[in-house]
Amino acid sequence: MEGKVPLMVILGGGESGVGAALLAKAKGYTVFLSDKSLLQESYRNTLLQHGIPFEEGQHTEKQILQAQEVVKSPGIPEKAAIIQKLRQQNIPVISEIELAARYTNARLIGITGSNGKTTTTLLTYHLLKAAGLNVGLAGNIGDSFARQVLENTFDYYVLELSSFQLDDMYRTRMNVAILLNITPDHLDRYEYQFQNYANSKFRILQNMTPDDTLIYYQEDPVIGRELADRQPAVQRRPVSLIDTPRPGAHLNDGTLVLDDGRQPLRIDTAELPLKGKHNAINMLAALSAAQAVGVGPEALRQGLMTFENAPHRLEPAGEINGVQFINDSKATNVDSVYYALESMTTPVIWMAGGLDKGNDYGQLAELVREKVKALICLGKDNQKLVTYFADRVPALFETQDVNEAVAKGLEWGQPGDTVLLSPACASFDLFRNYEDRGNQFKEAVKKRMMN
Ligand code: ADP
Repeated sequence: MEGKVPLMVILGGGESGVGAALLAKAKGYTVFLSDKSLLQESYRNTLLQHGIPFEEGQHTEKQILQAQEVVKSPGIPEKAAIIQKLRQQNIPVISEIELAARYTNARLIGITGSNGKTTTTLLTYHLLKAAGLNVGLAGNIGDSFARQVLENTFDYYVLELSSFQLDDMYRTRMNVAILLNITPDHLDRYEYQFQNYANSKFRILQNMTPDDTLIYYQEDPVIGRELADRQPAVQRRPVSLIDTPRPGAHLNDGTLVLDDGRQPLRIDTAELPLKGKHNAINMLAALSAAQAVGVGPEALRQGLMTFENAPHRLEPAGEINGVQFINDSKATNVDSVYYALESMTTPVIWMAGGLDKGNDYGQLAELVREKVKALICLGKDNQKLVTYFADRVPALFETQDVNEAVAKGLEWGQPGDTVLLSPACASFDLFRNYEDRGNQFKEAVKKRMMN
């Protein structure tokens, strides 16, 4: 570091970057924020109010390379020219999570996986909060961790951690970690090497000690293989849908069982707000995490009953003439569609499509044969879906218009059927993002309900 001025450069001016800038400034650093795009007005105003220098629409290398340390937003890929330059000069690059963790003594519960992070994070947070613990929610969700560390004094944080955040974490220690699943996603950021992506997910374990608890989905083959290889020195609390691990948690004939080897807690899933096997995994994991920090059985039970999930995840969107509409717009990869279809108990008119992420639909063939009576392809380029499913579904329709897609679903739907939007693809061809896609779908259903 010799010869460098004590400057903290923040790359990216979104929620995490601006939070990091505020925290770094409060901790006495000279701060400079740089974003290649234009900033949102509220973030620009925050920086101005706090007298934090910044640039937008460019990265001024000369200034950035003066940094003692750089905080990188998760959206900036490793191969970006500015990151390559920083690497060449051995300037440390960290994530906003790593920065914020330096300034809190709170106990950290970190949650990662390819699917189910948000649901499990929100549920874990809810369980702790409902039990009266002084807990914050951060990471890939809501207000940045850095901003909260600056403004609050929580005893616990529940952190949703993406692989991109984990990539730039080095010393942060999770007291409790949840590893839900590792299936192919974002491979474009990992040199198309699945192992690189898996390694990134396993960084969540890197500073855990034998006092800390790792909760993981036991049947995930990648997690199983990596744990066997790595043998981390932590307390293990597996979650299983087929086995009865002790200590651990499992599903037994519709009942969630938390078994510490002494007095198991049993909760019937029939009345619970989250449906489907994937959500059983998420619930078992969240319950295990809350239990690991001392939440008692009654509080766990009550917390689960009062949970409301975030929208766009198997969200009921209305009923018309006995046909249910479900918005699962957040299902942007094949694995999440698998679980969505698997949770369906009625014939399904499946709405899918959008930007392909290198999808392999083979995994869905059997479920589609069993449950799907029609496929509506909603996207600019439906070729891959059509090629794979044309001979595998009784009826298929292509459109680029969400209203037309909903109309078709209604035309084909019989009372008792479900029209499921679960796209397996990114949304950016026809929509701004998955929220926009889900909202437009819900609007289209609502319009029909009023006709
Ligand atoms: P993430 O934050 O990891 O994207 P979400 O909780 O937002 O996860 O869920 C995204 C989608 O993934 C949901 O629409 C659901 O269909 C699917 N999903 C949720 N939990 C799981 C799980 N444990 N395993 C596989 N798929 C899941």
